[in-house]
Amino acid sequence: MTQDMSCRCGHMHWRVDTGSGGTHVICYCADCQSFARHLGQAETMLDGDGGTEVFQIMPGAFHITQGADSLALLRLGPNGLFRWYARCCNTPIANTLPNPRRLPFIGVILPPGTQGFGPVTAQVNTAAARTPIRSHGFAAAAAALVGRALKARLTGQAGSVLFDAEGAPIVTPHVLTREERDAARP
Ligand SMILES: [Zn+2]
Ligand SMILES: [Zn+2]
Repeated sequence: MTQDMSCRCGHMHWRVDTGSGGTHVICYCADCQSFARHLGQAETMLDGDGGTEVFQIMPGAFHITQGADSLALLRLGPNGLFRWYARCCNTPIANTLPNPRRLPFIGVILPPGTQGFGPVTAQVNTAAARTPIRSHGFAAAAAALVGRALKARLTGQAGSVLFDAEGAPIVTPHVLTREERDAARP
């Protein structure tokens, strides 16, 4: 099974293999909210509680099918996650670690309520939610992520279209300035 996704303007398309497994989580952390806010997508990408829906998969389960020239990358700070987006219309795409070899996974970002990725099984980092949310499923989601990362290594699916053979990102990350970061803070 696969799910085809696209940015809001339709220039960039990507595909997610859902058959190889994934974990559907909602992250309420301030950084995920800042990412959406910096892109001007808080209205479209955050749910009413400030949550970001993420589908965590093996890197090999993510494919760019059209418009790769729009791929862009930012970090909220010098040590921040890699946050990938489509620059044509500022649509968030995915999160990864800066060093994909350490823990190979991709967290594909879903607009709130997207169907086809199974039920949400974890709500994490709820302290920064706009309303009180009960945190649950963190341990299971973390274990599944580590399990998939190991499997990705063992089955040769740790490589990703987002990184070259040396493990460097295929586009240069932009690190937000302190002013940009402050302006995006929820
Ligand atoms: Zn676009
Ligand atoms: Zn988050």
